[in-house]
Amino acid sequence: MWKTIRQILKTGDATVQYPNAPLKRPEYARGKPEHDSVACIACAACAVACPPNAIQFVVDQKAGTTTWSINYGRCVFCGRCEEVCPTRAIELTEEFELAVFDKGDLEETSTYRLQRCSECGAYYAPAKEVAYAARILEQSAGDDDEVRVAREMLGKCPKCKQRADAYRAKRHSETQKREAGEK
Ligand code: SF4
Ligand code: SF4
Repeated sequence: MWKTIRQILKTGDATVQYPNAPLKRPEYARGKPEHDSVACIACAACAVACPPNAIQFVVDQKAGTTTWSINYGRCVFCGRCEEVCPTRAIELTEEFELAVFDKGDLEETSTYRLQRCSECGAYYAPAKEVAYAARILEQSAGDDDEVRVAREMLGKCPKCKQRADAYRAKRHSETQKREAGEK
């Protein structure tokens, strides 16, 4: 018996004191993803990248909104959302104590306004995403005419953009034919 007691004293604590004392987390521990609804542009990259579909978007065409949501009950803390986010609006924290009494408390949402097409008026993309793309365009050092056309296209829905593209292509080929005939 004395031998066992000596061995126990020599070994010391083999268990952690958590939850009576804070738990020392390993370096690079991955915890709850924190979402910054102001920095988020509702681009949906995180929803596409999220393996267990913990992040989702629901579009309400009637209200002209799109709602981002995360369900921490489904999250596997892989960090894919953080990797793909263009604005660092979602980042993993060290928080791991996510137990709740009500499952509904595991969900968080943020709602964003949709942009209307400048041609047909249909909702087609989150307004913040369109504004973000416009800011990037402003910073691009491309040809002025190309930037102007791209800015115009940004305000159109995919259908109207397709129509405008087809019209531009037709005009371009007519001009080329005319110029070839003049030579
Ligand atoms: S950490 Fe992984 S599972 Fe969790 S929300 Fe992000 S992408 Fe989805
Ligand atoms: S990837 Fe980032 S900016 Fe895009 S919807 Fe997710 S959190 Fe928002």
